[in-house]
Amino acid sequence: MPLYAFRCPNGTEFESSFAMAEVPDAAPCPDCNAPARRQMSSARLSIANSAEFKLIDATKRSAHEPQLVSGRTGASKKATRYTGNPLHQKLPRP
Ligand SMILES: [Zn+2]
Repeated sequence: MPLYAFRCPNGTEFESSFAMAEVPDAAPCPDCNAPARRQMSSARLSIANSAEFKLIDATKRSAHEPQLVSGRTGASKKATRYTGNPLHQKLPRP
């Protein structure tokens, strides 16, 4: 749930978490119990350093910045023969 900032008439600022559909315009202050008005701010939808956020970032990054690999995985070192024609043996090799 997103965090919302509140400020009471006596100056105490605090944050409280509400569902987006149920966020009130005022919440009781934890110090003086006076109705504290909600501050204009962007709702903090997620913690930017969380594991979920890192996974989402890495997934998006891999679409245009693939990580380097040292070699093929799961493949044997032996070259696979694709043809049995002996004339193909004379073709230049990469
Ligand atoms: Zn207060």
